[in-house]
Amino acid sequence: MGHLDRLLEILACPQCKGELQLADEAIVGELNRQLKDQVNKDQVSKEPSNSIGSGPTRSPSKKPAEAALLCKRCGLAFPVIEGIPNMVLAEAISWPAAEQGK
Ligand SMILES: [Zn+2]
Repeated sequence: MGHLDRLLEILACPQCKGELQLADEAIVGELNRQLKDQVNKDQVSKEPSNSIGSGPTRSPSKKPAEAALLCKRCGLAFPVIEGIPNMVLAEAISWPAAEQGK
């Protein structure tokens, strides 16, 4: 996790330029669930219907996040995949619970 601590010092929320913090496992889990949903939707919309029966296909482009960076102010969590934070707003998930913190 050492390098993530350093990233946290450099990176800021792309939306509010606020400080980021390491998200806890619950958020990472939710993030991965939503990333998976996105991939599934992609595949359903792109694949022709006659490919049913060819077995499960997995998109190699989407890997699970091993961590997440959270902006408490916006309630946004950004995935960190293979040590690289993805600071794209469109890829972040909103995490309203973060805003209700102390
Ligand atoms: Zn923010």
